[in-house]
Amino acid sequence: MKLMALPAFSDNYLWLWQQDQLAVVVDPGDAQPVLKALSDHGLTLQAILVTHHHPDHVGGVRELHDITGAEVYGPAREDLPSPFTPVMHGDQLDLLGQTVDVLDVPGHTAGHVAFVLPNAPKSPVLFCGDTLFSGGCGRIFEGTPAQMLASMDCLATLPAETQVCSAHEYTLSNLRFACAVEPHNTALQAYSAHCQQLRAEGKPTLPAKLGTELQINPFLRARHPDVRHAVARHAGLSANEQNDDVAVFAALREWKNNFK
Ligand SMILES: [Zn+2]
Ligand SMILES: [Zn+2]
Repeated sequence: MKLMALPAFSDNYLWLWQQDQLAVVVDPGDAQPVLKALSDHGLTLQAILVTHHHPDHVGGVRELHDITGAEVYGPAREDLPSPFTPVMHGDQLDLLGQTVDVLDVPGHTAGHVAFVLPNAPKSPVLFCGDTLFSGGCGRIFEGTPAQMLASMDCLATLPAETQVCSAHEYTLSNLRFACAVEPHNTALQAYSAHCQQLRAEGKPTLPAKLGTELQINPFLRARHPDVRHAVARHAGLSANEQNDDVAVFAALREWKNNFK
């Protein structure tokens, strides 16, 4: 099994998962990079997985489906521009010989789903769209902070060695914010240096390791005293609000929204 991050637009990755001469693509916002990869590597597309309805994730779905006949699986609670098989939390697919678990992770959009390959050969693989990024999380467009926090909690229960395949290369700007929240986090400093090196070499910072994210990503660490205190100080939270996990998470997300 092989994972490829196909760059698209300014900072998207279209994840192509390959087994022998078969492939599955996740969130093909553009068909062209996928068609090129299929032809370059002599692959047949078996399935298209969609995490949420935003155009940069679904823009190439219809063309890829029409050309390859690959089956499309997408979030049951969202509308997509082409026909698809709806999936929701607890559903299990069998693709390219792998079990694929579906998780509901609302917040960025109301019906956002994630796909997990728990038995992938080296370590589990997570395709999380715009819910979890390395060092950050998606903006809350349709859901609530409580939903996004619950989605973070859900993803945090996956094994530490899980490979996190996010849909955007936002890592360095996320880490600048993370360092503002936790300036004394040494794991975060080491990881930032590592990612800066990767980007300087023109390499993706993804997949990230979930275990690393739990040490450095403020949105997975919103209950950590250091994060909680930094948010309380920045947002001027009352003592009651400081003890409210959702209020802290909402203020953390708001801080990031306005962070330059
Ligand atoms: Zn999105
Ligand atoms: Zn996106």
